[in-house]
Amino acid sequence: MSINEKSYAFGAAKSSIREIAAYGAARKAEIGAENVFDFSIGNPSVPAPESVRAAIERCAQLPPTELHGYTPAAGLPQARKAVADSLNRRFSTSYGLEDLYLTCGAAASISITLHALVNPGDEVIVIAPYFPEYRVWIETAGATCVEVMADPETFQIDTAAVAAAITPATKAIIVDSPNNPVGSVYSAQNLADLAQVLTTRGEEIGHPIYLVSDEPYREITYGVEVPWVPAAYERTIVCYSYSKSLSLPGERIGWVLVPNTNPDHDELMFAVAGAGRKLGFVCAPALFQRVLAECVDEPTDIDAYARNREALTRGLSELGYEYIEPQGAFYLWVKALEPDAEAFFRKAKAFEILPVPSDSFGCGGWVRLGYCVSYDTIVNSMPAWKKLMEQYR
Ligand code: PLP
Repeated sequence: MSINEKSYAFGAAKSSIREIAAYGAARKAEIGAENVFDFSIGNPSVPAPESVRAAIERCAQLPPTELHGYTPAAGLPQARKAVADSLNRRFSTSYGLEDLYLTCGAAASISITLHALVNPGDEVIVIAPYFPEYRVWIETAGATCVEVMADPETFQIDTAAVAAAITPATKAIIVDSPNNPVGSVYSAQNLADLAQVLTTRGEEIGHPIYLVSDEPYREITYGVEVPWVPAAYERTIVCYSYSKSLSLPGERIGWVLVPNTNPDHDELMFAVAGAGRKLGFVCAPALFQRVLAECVDEPTDIDAYARNREALTRGLSELGYEYIEPQGAFYLWVKALEPDAEAFFRKAKAFEILPVPSDSFGCGGWVRLGYCVSYDTIVNSMPAWKKLMEQYR
């Protein structure tokens, strides 16, 4: 074939999350939305805050050439400063706008960061179960994706397993807390242990190992604190987006932060800018850079997710399902009722329940339920979950 084989393969294989979501949409059109219980995709069900709409309306008054023009590649200075000031207030840091590069959401932040870091033949560690696009972005950057299973009891990072997986080719590790798909939040102790492993093993292999902290769910938590990762490990790069915290996934706005405490800060900022250029991003959406400058401190509305989480966990536990109690994000990691998660998914689908089988996330035996859905979807799905359970009795 004369076209790019890797791109063809990624396109032909498709994302199973998106495939299931597309099936869900078609099925809703067929039998009515109220009869399909689609827990597949992480599209926020909470509307974007009113302040976002107000900021859009204010920005729309700007002269069109200013509003729609290119911005600097790293983003408008006022937007980057607003983000830096906000982080400084929250995490007692002293970041400046020169530490930030605005992006088209977390997908772009991570792709850019990986392209900034890796050379062909490098390895990047992910903690399984993991967000499936990590593999796509790692391989596209020319590196190999190395899976390390999380601790099977706690779903914290198994730092001994990470230490064992590090080779001279290891360039980086991606962590995501609050975690998609499990909902776990890595404790300060777990991150301190990871930092120790990365430092020690980095010294042994003779070059630093970077920690890419993917944080689109940072604000969506249920009574636990999410430690600030650069405080635990100095060679951290933070990737963020407003897709979930401000419910703006279609607007494509986020950032990469190379903290000024990172010893390789200057080279990394050049490499980040170079990767953004290389990948053709040009600049993040101009309107939403301006909106961001005004809304950066807007609190995330988590009440609906907290209510959904409570209804879903209570309902499923009463029926006898096992799951990991989520500490953050809006996903529930539920044990499949048979070892083959795909087979379990097919049986769930027959009752119009659409979870995502865990094979997509790099392990077997579980399914992920996105509870960023309407409350009614959760409540009304319970009879179907009951019938599914009865099939296994
Ligand atoms: N990282 C994780 C863990 C995610 O769950 C997602 C989206 O669901 C992304 C990155 C990509 O987010 P964005 O829509 O901001 O590109």
